[in-house]
Amino acid sequence: MPTAEFRFYEELNDFLPEFRRKHSFRYGFADNATVKHAIEALGVPHTEVELILVNGVSVDFSHRIEDGDRVSAYPVFESLDVTPLLKLRPEPLRVMRFITDAHLGALAKRLRLLGFDTRHAAALDDAEIASISASERRVLLTRDRELLKRRQISHGCYIRQSAPKLQLAYVMQRLDLRRAARPFSRCVECNGILEESNLEAVADRLPGDVARRFRRFWTCAGCERVYWRGSHYQSLSMRVAKALEDQE
Ligand SMILES: [Zn+2]
Repeated sequence: MPTAEFRFYEELNDFLPEFRRKHSFRYGFADNATVKHAIEALGVPHTEVELILVNGVSVDFSHRIEDGDRVSAYPVFESLDVTPLLKLRPEPLRVMRFITDAHLGALAKRLRLLGFDTRHAAALDDAEIASISASERRVLLTRDRELLKRRQISHGCYIRQSAPKLQLAYVMQRLDLRRAARPFSRCVECNGILEESNLEAVADRLPGDVARRFRRFWTCAGCERVYWRGSHYQSLSMRVAKALEDQE
């Protein structure tokens, strides 16, 4: 069996067992294995890797490794200046859209609150999630590293955090989303677009004295839910402000 020397940098080490972290080690792989296969066999999802050097030269995922090669893998945010080197993904997605796995419902709502088009895959299996991510060009956000290893997935992000607030802060920072946010433009429940409406159109759906106390209303083009700036709006505004200022 051919072997190569592997070294993973920075947070890619989180995917490795303790004894392989932060130093070079030799690892055997099948004849003709691609560098993607070898890296994923070691437990690191390819979506987490930004740059791979083989014997000091940047390669893409389909590069076949050979006996005696030295393979270095760097994560998306390694501080190494990668600009003169080949990036693995040809270009970032121009419009950021997301699909969240079944564990990330609260994160999906927070992204929608900031206006990001986010499908939540509550009841889909892995193959369906991968296929939607690819066909709709949605960045997969997941706590399941096996899902990220699927070949179809080109844009994915492994979520380590368990608290939704920290998950959001991580995604906002990692994908540099702050300027793209359009708070309160999307329905947090169904991901539909919100459109400004008027009292006459929504009056029969308003509870209590809402019709008397508020002037502006929005309806969801998806589920027809009505939104207004009631008491809940204040706390959501704080949440939005916090999410947008946590950057830099
Ligand atoms: Zn809706």
